[in-house]
Amino acid sequence: MSGEQPVKSLKINRRAALAHLGGLALWCCVGRAQAAPTAAEVDQMRKHWRELLNPRAEIDTSLTPVRKSAEEWRKLLPKESYEVLFKEDTEEPYSNHLNQEKRDGVYVCRACSLPLFTSAMKYDSGTGWPSFFASIPGHMETKEDNFLWIPRTEYHCVRCGGHQGHVFDDGPPPTRERWCNNGLALRFIALK
Ligand SMILES: [Zn+2]
Repeated sequence: MSGEQPVKSLKINRRAALAHLGGLALWCCVGRAQAAPTAAEVDQMRKHWRELLNPRAEIDTSLTPVRKSAEEWRKLLPKESYEVLFKEDTEEPYSNHLNQEKRDGVYVCRACSLPLFTSAMKYDSGTGWPSFFASIPGHMETKEDNFLWIPRTEYHCVRCGGHQGHVFDDGPPPTRERWCNNGLALRFIALK
């Protein structure tokens, strides 16, 4: 019996230590999530977004409009992406893998590949949709949307007109923007 005592206490201590470590890890994650960038840092993210664009991807970043018929887009896109981009459908929350994407890179329009956001602008809003506190300047257009009898600001890709999501003013500081995007309307290009 006496021989088992140290083993028992070791087990308890190890469990307690792990619990503390878990708490510490959680605290670190929460701490990191709450560490907001400064306004100057957000300005840099907007100005230098190309630094996260993989040069091997050979993405056309011109703003020359890309216009295609509904039939042409339907042929080019998966059905669910077409429904979101050109019928303003909304995907189910927590349904798209881009919600968990954490690598460095750029999020481009699923229809025309215009870069719309970078990984530096992404944050976890807890809504189940890929969310960003800023977007690449000049690459998005907005319009007022009263579909749910609540005025909301819809936004879409400036080059092809593909619907992306809605932007709200309850995002994190300093921008307070929450660009709530459908993962089906985006494609992620990793930097490496
Ligand atoms: Zn587009």
